[in-house]
Amino acid sequence: MNPQASLPIIVSQAEIATAVKRLAAAITKDYRDKNPLLIGVLKGSFVFLADLMRQLDFPLEVDFIRLSSYGSGTQTSGKVKVVQELKLDIKNRHIVVVEDIIDTGVTIAFLLDYLKKKNPASLKLCALTDKPARHRVTVKIDYKGITVPDKFLVGYGLDCDEKYRNLPDIRALED
Ligand code: 5GP
Ligand code: MG
Repeated sequence: MNPQASLPIIVSQAEIATAVKRLAAAITKDYRDKNPLLIGVLKGSFVFLADLMRQLDFPLEVDFIRLSSYGSGTQTSGKVKVVQELKLDIKNRHIVVVEDIIDTGVTIAFLLDYLKKKNPASLKLCALTDKPARHRVTVKIDYKGITVPDKFLVGYGLDCDEKYRNLPDIRALED
């Protein structure tokens, strides 16, 4: 048996699909005529972004940015930096940042601040999952998917040491 299959499911495939549809409907309402630029935060958000964008039935563009991550463990260093820059110019663009999970909020607070300095026309945040119990900074999530418990999660793009991203649901890594 695949050892990944024994991890407890926190968010099922069906729950993810429902949340993605709801978020896509809200984004459609706000951006239908704006040719928004969706910015995926690598690597974790690529699965969510791929599903989300295919529910958006209007012109849009996509780019990616990569930030320094936790490294090879489950603890954050608290320091964030850009390790792969955007390819597109975001000045005067309507930006929706697409993130997999908000944990302490430190990463996304850094990113929103960083992007704001590039003078986009507007800047909003869409996050599939949120761990409110862990927040250390205030983050406004404009399009919020699912509240999750304070556990280290894997699957649907989320990894642990680069493993588990391929799980179709979100599971807790027991340690
Ligand atoms: P924050 O800066 O909000 O503490 O952490 C944000 C980033 O840490 C997320 O974008 C994600 O890459 C990673 N992260 C936070 N919590 C988890 C988790 O439960 N599982 C995994 N795999 N990554 C997480
Ligand atoms: Mg991430």
